[in-house]
Amino acid sequence: MAKYIFVTGGVTSSLGKGIIAASLAKLLQARGLRVTIQKFDPYINVDPGTLNPYEHGECFVTEDGAETDLDLGHYERFLNIHTSQANNVTTGRIYQTVINRERAGDFLGKTVQVVPHITDEIKRRMLLLGKDGKYDVVLTEIGGTVGDIESLPFIEAVRQLQWELPDEDVMVVHLTLIPYLKAAKELKTKPTQHSVKMLSETGVHPDVIVCRTEEPLGNDIKRKIALFCNVKTEAVIEAMDASTIYEVPLLMLREKLDLICLQKLNITNYQEPQLDKWKVFLDKLKYPKSKVTIGLIGKYVELQDAYKSILESFVHAGAINEVKIQVVNVHSEYITAENVAEKLEGLDGLLVAPGFGMRGIEGKIVAVKYARENGLPFFGICLGMQMAVIEFARTVLNLPHAHSTEMDQSTEDAVINMMEEQKKIKMMGGTMRLGSYPCMIKEGTLAHKIYGDSEISERHRHRYEFNNQYLEQFENAGVVFSGRNPETGLVEIMEIPNHPFFIGVQYHPELKSTVERPAPLFVSFIEAVKKYNEQKSSIKSPLLQSEMI
Ligand code: GLN
Repeated sequence: MAKYIFVTGGVTSSLGKGIIAASLAKLLQARGLRVTIQKFDPYINVDPGTLNPYEHGECFVTEDGAETDLDLGHYERFLNIHTSQANNVTTGRIYQTVINRERAGDFLGKTVQVVPHITDEIKRRMLLLGKDGKYDVVLTEIGGTVGDIESLPFIEAVRQLQWELPDEDVMVVHLTLIPYLKAAKELKTKPTQHSVKMLSETGVHPDVIVCRTEEPLGNDIKRKIALFCNVKTEAVIEAMDASTIYEVPLLMLREKLDLICLQKLNITNYQEPQLDKWKVFLDKLKYPKSKVTIGLIGKYVELQDAYKSILESFVHAGAINEVKIQVVNVHSEYITAENVAEKLEGLDGLLVAPGFGMRGIEGKIVAVKYARENGLPFFGICLGMQMAVIEFARTVLNLPHAHSTEMDQSTEDAVINMMEEQKKIKMMGGTMRLGSYPCMIKEGTLAHKIYGDSEISERHRHRYEFNNQYLEQFENAGVVFSGRNPETGLVEIMEIPNHPFFIGVQYHPELKSTVERPAPLFVSFIEAVKKYNEQKSSIKSPLLQSEMI
């Protein structure tokens, strides 16, 4: 039987509950325990797949094709594990299950209610991953902030589990904020006291309080929080702002968050934390040897969370290449043929991001053209690859109206069109080509060199594909389709040789990049970007010297 840790949040959102939960999970894993981590979200959407990234950030796709909250991305990147549909549960999914059972007659004669029917279903799912003996510890992050009306059933379920399970099998970690008032030069504990009080009113008592703070707490503050919130002083954990999220596990280690949890859960068979690889990564990340600049071309660029996995993949690939990556957000809507050179000036590489719909499309195509013609390293992901296909068709194949039927249904040259099996689908949620699919890689191609393998598997999230009727035309003009799906023949990778780096992929390599296993495509892209930057500077320096003379 697994042990359960619940992580709740108080005072305000955006305190980094996902990172704290992932860091604690990392530490327990580093101590030799088998750990998994899941997220319960209080919204009514059955999954976040239908949410606008502006609302909720990126939608993270798991191996089994679940569209999930972006925190699952953090879990995978930290723990180097695969999560699944079972690791992300929303209120919508809970209700859907209960209502389906009601319709099937499972509760015949009974009034179906929030308590016990909804809470029973929540509890069933909270315990599910711990049932088959695969894990020693299951961490559950509860989305939202304590006090929200919508998270009440989740908190009630935690209360019931605290009551039902043996004391040593369940614990609650509560994350709060200790604001620093500049004018008073003081840290304030009152919001934390209120938040713990609110949690206690629902019958849940936290075992550990993790305090986000800009200033060190000091023992007096810790003691005060402990006294008023009724926890041991060692159970008040300081979580100072960190320079990178990857430092948080080490900060939590220093604060002994893992030990206090192990003690509460009466786990004794643990080892010294094995974090060597993590520390090497962190060292490289903190002390890069050079710097490169990459343009991220997308339509949600002002919102960092919309491209979370891509940005984190850059962090992993940058560290391994010992280079600091500055990502410049370029809003594709404002790029035109006239200003493209100016907009992309100073960049060492270009990543055209995934996306949906018409907005900003032409700007993306212009940017791809610039990268292809000027030897600027280019990496296109999903929609980014589709834009590369359209650009090549328009410019090189002389098909000026080439387009994707996603943007123009009546285009003469639908070089990107809807996948056959997608055409009959009417419902929006969970109906794309989702999750992991195999891809065969042609020997002798750049992709083969990068992956060092002929068969790989990567995750997908799209409805459109390269139209194979045009395959030969593209190949004759020099495009290499280095990756294809072995069963359907769908194009998964396109590359253009005789270019420093030009690769487009229909899948999302960013979803599988972790600290310990950075995505090979990102690593190679950064290598090419670094080379481009070095060559650029070596061309520049003689010029500078001659200028000086
Ligand atoms: N909109 C495109 C499609 O559905 C690309 C999707 C994506 O970039 N994830 O095929």
